[in-house]
Amino acid sequence: MHNIFIIYTGGTIGMVKDETGTFVPFDFELIKRNLPDLSRLDYKLTVHSFEPIIDSSNMKPEIWIEMAQIIKDNYEDYDGFVILHGSDTMAFTASVLSFMLEGLQKPVILSGSQLPIGEIRTDARENMMTALEIASAKQDGVSIIQEVCILFDNKLFRGNRSFKYNSAKFEAFRSPNYPVLVEAGIHLKYNTDALLNNVNKEFILHTKLDNRVAVLKLFPGISAQTIKAVLDSDVRSIVMETFGSGNTTTDSWFLDLLQEAIDQGKNILNISQCKVGSVELGRYETSQGLKAIGVLNGYDLTFEAAVTKLMYLQGELEDQKEVAYWVEKDIRGELTVND
Ligand code: ASP
Repeated sequence: MHNIFIIYTGGTIGMVKDETGTFVPFDFELIKRNLPDLSRLDYKLTVHSFEPIIDSSNMKPEIWIEMAQIIKDNYEDYDGFVILHGSDTMAFTASVLSFMLEGLQKPVILSGSQLPIGEIRTDARENMMTALEIASAKQDGVSIIQEVCILFDNKLFRGNRSFKYNSAKFEAFRSPNYPVLVEAGIHLKYNTDALLNNVNKEFILHTKLDNRVAVLKLFPGISAQTIKAVLDSDVRSIVMETFGSGNTTTDSWFLDLLQEAIDQGKNILNISQCKVGSVELGRYETSQGLKAIGVLNGYDLTFEAAVTKLMYLQGELEDQKEVAYWVEKDIRGELTVND
């Protein structure tokens, strides 16, 4: 009998329409009522429902810490964990949990749906059943999946490589910079070479997060005043979303502003506005200056992984230089160094 721990946070999967026709979160009983098959399965399910149940746009670090703690507290007693979560911020939660749960040797699978479980054409049933099956899968007594993942529309993605790209289709997630880990058809097709293997690692829970992170998304014509407002804010790091393979204007006023912030001890992490590909500092003249002043290379990090990795590293490390060192390293399979 498989022993799975379900954490129910809310999201569309368990929503109902109120009298005005707006989707509002509902309790786990709704899911159980609509999934009579659950009781026919060879699973022992334990459910922890968050109070209150939320739309995932209300997700916050306090809840991430509680979630990670629940996993740690129940880690030894279960084969795997399924987190039911709204899709809007699912990639942030999956990313941050991947950093908080170091050396994970069991599956932590986030899933949800685009239509509530009570709707005729819902994608909730497929998603939930497939998530449960993968969360319990073992080979020679060892969990096949040993990382935090997202299961949506018959695909299992590495959590810290994924983002929500479609709010209208069942295929809500993608991870263009990393292969799909499992494809669910008639069989579950595991992409064994792409999976993390933590068998010889120690499982360590990290619960400190420091949210002093800001975001600077560039566009042609952005004013010095706007850039200054972001750089001067009370943060330790700035995620700078640049063009193409990490390029920006070469105007000296712009580089001077960045240099000033770096001199004040702030970290500036360069990630691309492109969803596919990687930052390559120095490939073009338009990124050479950034490299020279000490802008950090985010390689192919997703926006979600960049923000949450900085929150995690800042929670763990006081020294800005140490944060800068680790943010450029691959610590949970979240980036590929290309130089
Ligand atoms: N707004 C919902 C949420 O993120 C959307 C979903 O569940 O897919 O909670």
